[in-house]
Amino acid sequence: MDNVTIERMNYLIKVLEEAAYDYYVLDDPKITDQEYDAYYRELETIEKLHPEWVSDTSPTKKVGGEVIDEFKKIEHTIPMLSLGDVFNEEEIIDFLKRIEDSGVNSPYVCELKIDGLSVSLHYEKGILTTAATRGNGVIGEDITHNVKTIKSIPLKLKQPLDIEVRGEIYMSKDTLAKINKERISKGEKPLQNPRNAAAGSIRQLDSKVAAKRNLDAFLYHLPNPEDFGIKTHHEALEFMKSLGFKTNPNNRIVKNIDEVMAYIHEKGELRDSLPYDIDGVVIKVDNIKDQQSLGFTARTPRWAIAYKFPALEVLTKLNDIIFTVGRTGKITPNAILDPVQLMGSTISRATLHNEDYVLKKGLMIHDTVSIRKAGDVIPEVVEAKIERRTGNEMPFKMITNCPICNTELIKKEGEADYYCPNPNCPARHIESFIHFVSRPAMNIDGLGERLMEDLYNFKFISTIPDIYKLSSKKDALIKLEGYGEKSVTNLLNAIEVSKDNSLERLLFGLGIKNVGKEKAKILAKKYKNMDNLSKASYEELVDIPDIGPIIANNVVAYFKDDTNLKMIEELKELGLNMEYIGEELKLNEDFLEKSFVLTGTLTKLTREEAKALIENAGGKTRESVSKKTDAVIVGDNPGSKYEKAKELNIPIWSETEFLEKINS
Ligand code: NAD
Repeated sequence: MDNVTIERMNYLIKVLEEAAYDYYVLDDPKITDQEYDAYYRELETIEKLHPEWVSDTSPTKKVGGEVIDEFKKIEHTIPMLSLGDVFNEEEIIDFLKRIEDSGVNSPYVCELKIDGLSVSLHYEKGILTTAATRGNGVIGEDITHNVKTIKSIPLKLKQPLDIEVRGEIYMSKDTLAKINKERISKGEKPLQNPRNAAAGSIRQLDSKVAAKRNLDAFLYHLPNPEDFGIKTHHEALEFMKSLGFKTNPNNRIVKNIDEVMAYIHEKGELRDSLPYDIDGVVIKVDNIKDQQSLGFTARTPRWAIAYKFPALEVLTKLNDIIFTVGRTGKITPNAILDPVQLMGSTISRATLHNEDYVLKKGLMIHDTVSIRKAGDVIPEVVEAKIERRTGNEMPFKMITNCPICNTELIKKEGEADYYCPNPNCPARHIESFIHFVSRPAMNIDGLGERLMEDLYNFKFISTIPDIYKLSSKKDALIKLEGYGEKSVTNLLNAIEVSKDNSLERLLFGLGIKNVGKEKAKILAKKYKNMDNLSKASYEELVDIPDIGPIIANNVVAYFKDDTNLKMIEELKELGLNMEYIGEELKLNEDFLEKSFVLTGTLTKLTREEAKALIENAGGKTRESVSKKTDAVIVGDNPGSKYEKAKELNIPIWSETEFLEKINS
């Protein structure tokens, strides 16, 4: 890990403390939760590496939050803790393993992690007496006056019990939208998110404000379950419900990691349609005795964990805007970003489409920008964070000349895009590379138009042989936007496999004028290898049926050109096959790894042709019929093999049926 210094650690502590103050005291965060979580994780890692540096007052050792003096203080007899965070399946597996390794064999309860603030409610003889915030975990703020305005929190329980219950106060998405609409119309700053909106509303001295904010609450924790004879968390939830509290209907008992992951996926999908915000899923050991044996750290229980949903949007720095040229000459501005993790991949670039797009978003170089994945795949710059500007930003300026050939760009009437009008611009070579890798040519899967344009513009490919040199640039390719490890590995495999293609594919891919797919096959069949073809004379070529004078001329001219010969030599050295292999296999399920016997005279095919077709489809031919024969193909005047097939109940195909199957 970089930056493992005590200075870095102290810096992180300072940043986290300031952020916690803005978040918990002012209810007005200045950094995103993802930034906070990333700093927090970095601090945790440094502290693990250097336990001798760790102080008891580190943010990792205490429950975030402070108590404001204006409020009366309430001491929590049982501390109100935070939750440990996990961000992926592996970390959840680790958590479950830790639990199971300590001898616990309890089911778990999965719950939605409501994005609000926690509250502790005390009832005496069934009557609400006090309500407190979590505060610093030990001392909370008295918010009883405001909690009494929340309709879903009963003032009187269905049983006259002395009891403490805990849960989350939240603001619905609708309420937040309504409040923000009003605030914006009054020229006030909108509230940032439902969590801070709920916290800001509940921590008001005047309860009229909270009453207007339409807050709500889900209860999810009973600190003293044994007092009521309760042995599991799920029973506690039912008990709280029976007393008149609102519990969340999505809670579920699960037994293993598969069920946890299924819950996470299911609720992740549900997230947008819920009327309130959730930022993850909480996984809790169900058995109360087991919870007690697992215990707590200073900050979190060891029997529960919060899985946080991946951020849908993250912030990063726009370091530069560079221009790329497409196969048609179209110019595209691209955002060059500080690499940032988003939904499982590292983003360092995003298309900005055209000049108008950049101007509309008002982007400046060095801006902090938010990024999201459009349609979950392509990274998109959402907006510039104007409040984070430092004065060092530079305005965006559209280029006037092609970045490849320097020709002056043109913009067609009514169009947003600029083009390089030079038909000889080297960027136009992209077209020929796209043709080379296309399905009927070298058939390299995964090398589409956009990637090819990227590979050209980012100087991975400037000639056809460069395609076969990509394997040495795997790491750089993985970093290229949107192309993760898996797709790059698949691509490099597809490139490697294409080296074995039969000659006609390579010939077609080279793009010799007028040599289409069919003509390439005729030439490959006739000359068998590239060397022979390269030496063919015009006279010889025109003599071939279907090869006219134009093609003959073009072929001769192609092989006269030194650049072409050098390129073919290079491809040969890179390991490309230069020979005609023959008919390619057309594997067919009806034939694959099956055994066939031919009998009688076929009318449309010779016996040899039929055998070749069967082998090409992945099947075998045998001379005699046995139990292992999958079908007998019968022509005119069949012999004893036909009788044997009937005897053994083996399927019998006519020549027509055979042809239908082989061509399907
Ligand atoms: P947390 O919000 O990550 O998790 C603990 C809390 O989850 C509990 O205290 C409880 O209030 C809540 N919760 C919701 N549903 C629950 C359920 N079903 N069961 C149990 N608990 C449930 O931890 P935290 O200590 O409250 O806050 C830390 C987080 O706050 C950070 O990870 C960060 O995301 C955010 N934060 C952001 C900033 C910032 O500047 N943006 C600053 C400080 C903290």
